[in-house]
Amino acid sequence: MIHLDDPLRLRTLRDQAHQVAMNMLRPVSRKYDRAEHEYPKELDMLAAMIDGLSESGAGEGAGASGVRRDEQLEALSGVKNGANLASVMSIAEMCWGDVGLLLSMPRQGLGNSAIASVADDEQLARFKDTWAAMAITEPGVGSDSANIQTTAVLDPATDCYVINGEKIFVTAGERADSVVVWATLDRSLGRAAIKSFVVEKGTPGMKVERLEHKLGIRASDTATITFTDCRVPKENLLGTAEVDPKQGFAGAMATFDNTRPLVAAMAVGVARASLDLTRDLLAQAGVEVDHDRPAQVQHAAAATFLQLEADWEGARLLTLQAAWEADNRKPNSLEASMAKAKAGRVGSEITLRCVELASTLGYSETELLEKWARDSKILDIFEGTQQIQQLIVARRLLGLSSAELK
Ligand SMILES: Cc1cc2nc3c(=O)[nH]c(=O)nc-3n(C[C@H](O)[C@H](O)[C@H](O)COP(=O)(O)OP(=O)(O)OC[C@H]3O[C@@H](n4cnc5c(N)ncnc54)[C@H](O)[C@@H]3O)c2cc1C
Repeated sequence: MIHLDDPLRLRTLRDQAHQVAMNMLRPVSRKYDRAEHEYPKELDMLAAMIDGLSESGAGEGAGASGVRRDEQLEALSGVKNGANLASVMSIAEMCWGDVGLLLSMPRQGLGNSAIASVADDEQLARFKDTWAAMAITEPGVGSDSANIQTTAVLDPATDCYVINGEKIFVTAGERADSVVVWATLDRSLGRAAIKSFVVEKGTPGMKVERLEHKLGIRASDTATITFTDCRVPKENLLGTAEVDPKQGFAGAMATFDNTRPLVAAMAVGVARASLDLTRDLLAQAGVEVDHDRPAQVQHAAAATFLQLEADWEGARLLTLQAAWEADNRKPNSLEASMAKAKAGRVGSEITLRCVELASTLGYSETELLEKWARDSKILDIFEGTQQIQQLIVARRLLGLSSAELK
């Protein structure tokens, strides 16, 4: 039997995240949209609360760092609703509050997911308290991440990697304690030589050059960072230093299987916020949305709303599926990209259509609808654009390699 309700065991976490979003993020949402680049100090208290929950065990998977795959699972019988599902559910709720603020939460960066995905146990323990940003994009490298130009060369005399290159559009790049930097060990060895390195803030040779002014998620800082002869201990290379051409790009790409469902969850959350407010505004205008009657016999605005909700539900279910598969140690690259493609696209469409449905109220700063329409667009761009997700889905379904389908 198909049972589409949220798992019982995760409902408390979901409800707590919703309360935090409503009482702590929403009240300062507009403030930090206007005060771009100002640090949202209210988040420090929230981060301390989440740390407390994690230490007590009550906050399993409460954020982006909860995406590690459970090696013990094979010993267990049946299915598991674990940290990945908990993460996407809590992140969606937090983004119902504010996406930019969620992206600014200490210790919940996309770099933390990268560490959780690729690090060995020793590294995981060492970097447990860090807040990590993720730096892949370069001035000449975006979607084509296999073309990374930043280099990391081992200096055997000091057992350090020496990193040189420039990273752009690094979310939380200025505020985070460390940055997970993608760099190549040897450009001549192609994509298999790309590895990720944890570079701690303040390491000589690492410099934040500037912050970007943006359309949306203005509460989140987005930095350009240069690395000039920047030395990191060789133990900061995440996972194995071995370059295995057969393995190709798989090690680094494994990160995306975990982070794409999280970004999809962000889109689900902000779209839900728009739908909830729009439904209330429509009701105030005398338009009730009735789920028990066919759309075509209802007010045009209600019919549009029902269609948007159906799109939203599809995105939500794909997101939950991708996370659930990660929890159950099933390969989920296809589902992660499907979720990201669907949620990224409908997230943008829904938030913009909600602006339209609420018209003057939607477009003005009286309500947050216009902000959510701006905030949601990035979720269809970073961690792989809409077009790139569709390409990955097509490759997976057709059994074609990246060389065969570009
Ligand atoms: C606010 C913000 C925050 C960001 N945060 C981070 C971060 O924390 N870390 C990080 O590393 N990066 C980050 N990025 C960068 C983001 O991941 C890239 O912008 C994204 O991957 C796209 O790369 P690009 O901008 O170079 O576009 P390009 O790769 O140049 O693509 C341009 C357009 O062409 C399309 N396209 C490209 N290749 C194909 C193809 N083969 N088939 C069809 N269409 C194609 C793309 O979909 C896109 O529409 C951020 C960007 C922004 C705007």
